[in-house]
Amino acid sequence: MRDSTLLNLGRLCVIYSKANELEHKPATNANPMGTTTFGKPRCSDCGRELEEPTNLPADQRQPCPTCGSSSRIQSVTINETLELHDSLTAKGRHEGQKRPFIEVFSGADFSHRLKKWMQKLRLIDRDKDIYHEEVTDPDTGEVVHKTKEKLTEHTGHGSAKN
Ligand SMILES: [Zn+2]
Repeated sequence: MRDSTLLNLGRLCVIYSKANELEHKPATNANPMGTTTFGKPRCSDCGRELEEPTNLPADQRQPCPTCGSSSRIQSVTINETLELHDSLTAKGRHEGQKRPFIEVFSGADFSHRLKKWMQKLRLIDRDKDIYHEEVTDPDTGEVVHKTKEKLTEHTGHGSAKN
């Protein structure tokens, strides 16, 4: 597995990425019982599991003992009990780049059309040119809106491309 992304809608959100830095920002009133678990770093070239701290900057990494690479895959599991209206975001950045190549939003989002809070998942993956949005009615579990398109062709609400 190399730089792939896996997401589950709702309470559990798992990201595998080649991010150099991953940040996770729960909403201010998010449940303090929520946990963020970092998996062991792995070499992104050969897949070997490595005994080094998570999110170690690239210039402090030892080359992979098997293949010599300093690229890493880091898995992050964000498991939060989302209260109504809570949301969380996660961003991943490549080494030396300010703009995240991956952004995830999961949580409550107010629908003006339906006049109620909906559960929303949004994934922006600039590397793979993906814009994915899924809105679920939290009461019925019904998916009321689903968008999966190329980010470069996305003509939605504007903020996604910034
Ligand atoms: Zn390796």
